[in-house]
Amino acid sequence: DVLRNDASRVNDIRHVIEADRAHVWHHLTQHKGFETTDPRIFVEGKGMRVWDAAGREYLDAVSGGVWTVNVGYGRASIADAVRDQLVKLNYFANSAGSIAGARFAENLIGKMPGMSRVYYSNSGSEANEKVFKMVRQIAHRHHGGRKSKILYRERDYHGTTLGTLAAAGQAQRRAQFGPFPEGFVEVPHCLEYRSQYGAVENYGELAADAIEAVILREGPDTVGALCLEPITAGGGVITPPKGYWEKVQDICRRHEVLLHIDEVVCGLGRTGTWFGYQHYGVQPDFVTMAKGVASGYAAISCTVTTERIFELFKDDPADPMSFFRDISTFGGCVAGPAAALENMRIIEDENLLANTQAMGERLMAGLWELSERHRAVGDVRGKGLFCGVELVQDRATKEPAEERLVQAVVADCMANGVIIGATNRSLPGLNNTLCLSPALIATADDIDRIVAAIDGALSRVFG
Ligand code: PMP
Repeated sequence: DVLRNDASRVNDIRHVIEADRAHVWHHLTQHKGFETTDPRIFVEGKGMRVWDAAGREYLDAVSGGVWTVNVGYGRASIADAVRDQLVKLNYFANSAGSIAGARFAENLIGKMPGMSRVYYSNSGSEANEKVFKMVRQIAHRHHGGRKSKILYRERDYHGTTLGTLAAAGQAQRRAQFGPFPEGFVEVPHCLEYRSQYGAVENYGELAADAIEAVILREGPDTVGALCLEPITAGGGVITPPKGYWEKVQDICRRHEVLLHIDEVVCGLGRTGTWFGYQHYGVQPDFVTMAKGVASGYAAISCTVTTERIFELFKDDPADPMSFFRDISTFGGCVAGPAAALENMRIIEDENLLANTQAMGERLMAGLWELSERHRAVGDVRGKGLFCGVELVQDRATKEPAEERLVQAVVADCMANGVIIGATNRSLPGLNNTLCLSPALIATADDIDRIVAAIDGALSRVFG
């Protein structure tokens, strides 16, 4: 249908584009550009491919732009599961349970040894806010109001609300939005390529020690939680250095700081395990997830915690406010867990974790090969189908490539039918990493085509 080229369709599409231009406020977009170009409108997707309003086909190497559509487009079985659920029961507030909600929680906990409870909401930001509120309520109820500070890491990102922006390790994201809630404290990043300590053998340990130094400076009795991405996504696809997570876990245990791992990007398969943290043998107190939970077929996010944390909110006759005093209206939409159940079944039945590992290795190998030929490639990082290519002006100085050149690489790939991403524009010093996160169904041909598109783009943009 999308390729139908009769006059009525062309008129329809023109109308849609003008309606969009006139009335839709796009995310993260400077609209001035639409005075001279049309807003892009995607109309159809199947597997790894999407088609735009002009009928052009693209290979999507970023799973819907922001690492979301993990099982690919056009999954009729998820649509059927959602439809069946909606006609049976679409909604009831989550103070009551639902069949799909209970079943998905049970299946999810089955993939997360040591975890026990699932709290439903709608977005990654919201799932993270729930943790912040749980930590604050624990501080009030069990630590006399102390242990309320939440540590976050330079370069990490946890969402778009004022609370999660207060925890953004990308300070530029906060510009023009203050004032912010108090009690959020930054710890240093762990990007070995841009080591704060020069070239050292034990970078991972030093980066973890830097977290402990912040805890000691603030006072361990004031610090409630440490919130980290398992692999930093938008801040540059930063895989943790050797020895980092072991030490982080140890520091948290010693200072009784709860460990919150934000799996909004890595959650459900992206890195070749169900969750990113499972590569590193850590045992978190909280795990949050959103994007890949239902691959974008429904809006659902989960805040998962342990029975030990859950017990802290158990009924206390002396305190009528002892339960977690929070609600999310649309956390009761049953479409979410219905879609999530089918999404998880697909990942399992189609062996997508194994495919992600194999195709991830192929992608990383292909990208490293590019670094041999293109001087602009400073570093290649990643795990599974989650990779970043940091572009630089000069390998010796590691001066970041100019944003306009990074964007030119993205645009060149797009013009050649491959959608790749880059770390956020307008974040100076952080905007020079190409991002790849194809769906977990990617084939060897898909991977090779993605690498070839980047190869060509780097030649054309950097010579
Ligand atoms: N955490 C991480 C690591 C993210 O990358 C994002 C979104 N890019 C969020 C949280 C926020 O998720 P949402 O946009 O669904 O609120």
